[in-house]
Amino acid sequence: MHPTFVRLASTGPTGAAAITALVASLSLFAGCGQQQSPNDAASAIFSGASGAWIDLTHPFDDDTIYWPTDSLGFELDELAYGETDAGFFYSAYRFSTAEHGGTHLDAPIHFARGAQTADELPLTSLIGPAVVVDVSDHASPDYQVTVDDLQRFTDEYGPIPAGSVVLIRTGWGARWNNRASYLGTALTGAAAIPNLHFPGIGAEAAAWLADQGNVSAVGIDTPSIDHGQSSDFAAHVALYKHNIPGFENVAALDQLPPTGAFVVALPMKIAGGSGAPLRIVAYVPGK
Ligand SMILES: [Zn+2]
Repeated sequence: MHPTFVRLASTGPTGAAAITALVASLSLFAGCGQQQSPNDAASAIFSGASGAWIDLTHPFDDDTIYWPTDSLGFELDELAYGETDAGFFYSAYRFSTAEHGGTHLDAPIHFARGAQTADELPLTSLIGPAVVVDVSDHASPDYQVTVDDLQRFTDEYGPIPAGSVVLIRTGWGARWNNRASYLGTALTGAAAIPNLHFPGIGAEAAAWLADQGNVSAVGIDTPSIDHGQSSDFAAHVALYKHNIPGFENVAALDQLPPTGAFVVALPMKIAGGSGAPLRIVAYVPGK
């Protein structure tokens, strides 16, 4: 962890301010004590010279995990593939997918009437300092993240920086290649729903996150921010009514530090969408 990043990031009110803070902090860090110009520091971020970009996205393919009632999954149809009569190679596909499958955005309107849609979310809700709350050492298939988990995190690492993307690491990402283990059941269709078992965020912890006033978005490495056995989706409701979006089926959270990284989560801009496929990445300074 780099305390400089945390301190600077915590001064900004939004994700945009966090990026400014990232550039400012890197101008100190990347030069190893020598001042760098903001342009040099920004270049070093985007080139990866002063840190590592980590892809937090599962691929979309035949094996992508969708909610059990979505039997179609991800479909990719070939429209063209091969040499053309004009002498050049050409390929193109058509894809179809539900909004809520694989690594994806939950726009707030998913569980809150009148809240922001996928295209309405400001970039400041999608970009910001990452805090990774790791409950993987005690998360069981029906586990619900508690206020204690969150307070233990802030006791150890300090307050959640303004504009943060709070990522919950349950360890379930390691199960992605085993659908039955990831969801808790190999069943599909409506019969699977009572048999879903995976961790999520408890109702009180979700309300605690919303009450902080400094959380831009919440992500998790399971199929849902609510645990598999939830029937009231209390975490969805508690967060989305405050226009705090969710990122679900997030990958590779084991590669992020508890603090100091930054998240860029860019969903497909579906007009009026309740969610969208998401490409989410993180920047880890100094990695
Ligand atoms: Zn969703």
